[in-house]
Amino acid sequence: MATGTLKIDLSAVASNWRDLSAMASGKAGAVVKADAYGLGLAQVSKTLARAGAREFFVAVAEEGVALRQILGKGPRINVFSGHMAGDTKLIRDANLTPMLNSIDQMLRHVEALPGRPFGIQLDTGMNRLGMEEAEWAALRDLALAQKPTLIMSHLACADAPDHAMNARQLQVFTQMTAGLDVPRSLAATGGILLGSDYHFDTVRPGIGLYGGMPFVDARPVVTLDIPVIQIRDVAVGETVGYSNTWVARGPSRIATISAGYADGIIRAMGPNAQLHTGSSAVPVVGRISMDMIGVDVTGLAQEPEHLELIGPHQSVDTVAGFADTIGYEILTSLGARYNRVYI
Ligand SMILES: *Cc1c(COP(=O)(O)O)cnc(C)c1O
Repeated sequence: MATGTLKIDLSAVASNWRDLSAMASGKAGAVVKADAYGLGLAQVSKTLARAGAREFFVAVAEEGVALRQILGKGPRINVFSGHMAGDTKLIRDANLTPMLNSIDQMLRHVEALPGRPFGIQLDTGMNRLGMEEAEWAALRDLALAQKPTLIMSHLACADAPDHAMNARQLQVFTQMTAGLDVPRSLAATGGILLGSDYHFDTVRPGIGLYGGMPFVDARPVVTLDIPVIQIRDVAVGETVGYSNTWVARGPSRIATISAGYADGIIRAMGPNAQLHTGSSAVPVVGRISMDMIGVDVTGLAQEPEHLELIGPHQSVDTVAGFADTIGYEILTSLGARYNRVYI
């Protein structure tokens, strides 16, 4: 078998949820958008429901429909993109709770599905989604009369605890929601770590559940092992891979491993990436191809049968650093070809 093995530790996901939930002053939901950050919506969300999560968040209604089929009746499923044209049937049939982002969405919702649950998303400075102050002021009474289930907003800089934006957004959110008898939610993983001022009634962790930064105490969730297809000797002056970008400076042993950018191993990582066999690090050489990568295994005492890209020796965030990106992007890019093993 030439496919890489992606091991996903569901007990670590459950344990991360319990830890984040214990830190929260109110309740903890769980963000499972984008196939639970690439780790498998069904397996992950069932695990979280078993661990006690009762409130889930997805990006779009279609994800909510899939999640409802997995979880059955009971848990609340909130949709960040709100109530878009074409979503009405999905929202009704799967009993989803859209987070309404604008006056248009609010009118669409109360006209199409009067009396059905909804939340409100406010923009407190990120300028991505949600109603701004003037819109909210115009709509507030109508919205409150319909009893929203949640009022939420999202922090732009929560991964940087000292950033002045955090306190600014907290202040705007507090002021926009003052005196309302509606549950509130502001914090994702980064916001939970900012402390209880940011927690309100419900927190919305995503990346922290999956072992990513900024939750430094997270239990790692993912390991990725890639099989070696072939190992060859390369003489001084010979090249490896497309465009001859790597030239052997000494006699070398080069392993060709069976994964590439089609599996989410971003091509831009090439010059910086390394893998591990046990505690020994081995560098990527030459261009990352679609399905293969060259790795310099010169000097290893034993020929490896597979090499570890993500695991005990190198975290998702370390791998993200090879391409100057974030753990979120590595997880959500993990390829469909891997053999996914749940432990
Ligand atoms: C993705 C997302 C989250 C989860 O964020 P993490 O940083 O992964 O914890 C929470 N809220 C909103 C609005 C999001 O888009």
